[in-house]
Amino acid sequence: MPTERQVYLLDPQKLSPETIAVTFAKTSRSPQSFAEIAQQLTDEKSAEFHEKWVVGYGHASVAEHAVLHVAVENISRLAVETLESNRLASYTEKSSRYQKWENDRFYRPAELANSPLQAVYAQTCQLLFDAYLESLPQVQQWTARQFPQRPDESPAAWERRIRTEYVDVCRFILPAAALANVGMTINARALEHGLRKMLSHPLEEVRAIGAEIKAAAQAEVPTLVKYAEVDPYLQKMEAAFTDLPLQGDSPQPGQGAWCTLVAYDTDPVDRLLAAVLYRYGETEFRQARARVAAMPAEQKRSLLHTLLGSLGRHDNPLRELEHTSFTFDVTIDQGGYFELKRHRMMTQSPQRLTTHLGYALPRAILESGFEPRYRQAMQAAAEAYEQIAQVSPEVAAYVVPNAYNRRVLLTTNLRSVYHLINLRTAPNAHFSVRRLAQCMAEQITACCPALSGLLPAAAGESWDSIERQYFTQTE
Ligand SMILES: Cc1cc2nc3c(=O)[nH]c(=O)nc-3n(C[C@H](O)[C@H](O)[C@H](O)COP(=O)(O)OP(=O)(O)OC[C@H]3O[C@@H](n4cnc5c(N)ncnc54)[C@H](O)[C@@H]3O)c2cc1C
Repeated sequence: MPTERQVYLLDPQKLSPETIAVTFAKTSRSPQSFAEIAQQLTDEKSAEFHEKWVVGYGHASVAEHAVLHVAVENISRLAVETLESNRLASYTEKSSRYQKWENDRFYRPAELANSPLQAVYAQTCQLLFDAYLESLPQVQQWTARQFPQRPDESPAAWERRIRTEYVDVCRFILPAAALANVGMTINARALEHGLRKMLSHPLEEVRAIGAEIKAAAQAEVPTLVKYAEVDPYLQKMEAAFTDLPLQGDSPQPGQGAWCTLVAYDTDPVDRLLAAVLYRYGETEFRQARARVAAMPAEQKRSLLHTLLGSLGRHDNPLRELEHTSFTFDVTIDQGGYFELKRHRMMTQSPQRLTTHLGYALPRAILESGFEPRYRQAMQAAAEAYEQIAQVSPEVAAYVVPNAYNRRVLLTTNLRSVYHLINLRTAPNAHFSVRRLAQCMAEQITACCPALSGLLPAAAGESWDSIERQYFTQTE
């Protein structure tokens, strides 16, 4: 048995994901090296092990060592949402910023087959796609006037420079039915959980994708996802809480702020500093808090500077930032929400996608002269939504364009929101998410003035200035 240090990779070309998982799992009780353990395993022995330990005794974390790369193509962006709601996985999807959608690339739900609403649905999606495709050259011409070609710039280079500017705007018209591809890297434990959610979902498309992913995954991990089934608890919760009448509970577009910090810790900065002192000290947390509470404001500010003021571009702030959290009630256009949801480390509870919270009208749509066509498309979507929602609000969500607002309750620790602010206030971020990230930064510093200048928000911009530059009123 080797005694010197060894580092090596288990080869996924030679070992199946389930065998790799068992190889690691067995180190718990075996003194042998991983290579020796792997040599003695077969796919059959690995399956037996998983049946006994993972399935039988519930040692589910073993399944995390079996990793799959799942390619999912031509699913609606509404279905992409469900897939990506599994936080312990990695995704890359077709971008509505870097690609243009081709005509007719929308999902047709099985729920509407043989229903008169099928025609309403198809006509509305087609109308939205037509409007989207018409908007591209019109907004492009307007954008070209805003960003003229430079003397030394080729037409192709000029188009590359302005492309995101107008595609970012036209994407507001695309409905949630638009088809996309998404690549997912996920371990078998997270996948099993994700499949249970998908198989219990109210949409037929999501249930079918769940069944197809399960079938595809079983080729690689025959045992670990075999028992993923419908989750009656999830279905019961959906039935019990959906549309529970609450007094005064009606959608109120335009009322109240669109991004509100609704809850945060008492003395968030003290809590944060106490957590850092705790990490590097030997006291109880209560003592660390008392010590911070007794510090002069200047000393706290100096410690915060040490903690956050010297971070390099690739540095992550200390994990102790996670001991301080904030809850925001956010209303953002669906296109912006689609990017926001990718921040997996936060807890996000989105409400159903509807046309009830109004829609955003980008300034470029107005100034390029596309406003009448845009409003007509939004109106058609709202009318179709109402008709289809009589039968199924879930299915109706497919016709809702990215411009319509979505409400999401978001709880984040300071470390995660620091990352979001850093990434999403950058100049290349979409203006919708940039406005949100800037607003979150402003609200956090309003409640914790000691953090002023220490969050990585863009200098020279405010959420208000972004709003004035890129949006007109929300309808
Ligand atoms: C300029 C730009 C272009 C983009 N283009 C696309 C695109 O074309 N298509 C697309 O699908 N997405 C795109 N995205 C979204 C991007 O891929 C991320 O999903 C999104 O920005 C969230 O960032 P995050 O993963 O760092 O954040 P979070 O999910 O909030 O994670 C926070 C941090 O936790 C750590 N972390 C979380 N999960 C893991 C994990 N599984 N493994 C390792 N570390 C982890 C990382 O340090 C991460 O930065 C783009 C983003 C940007 C900024």
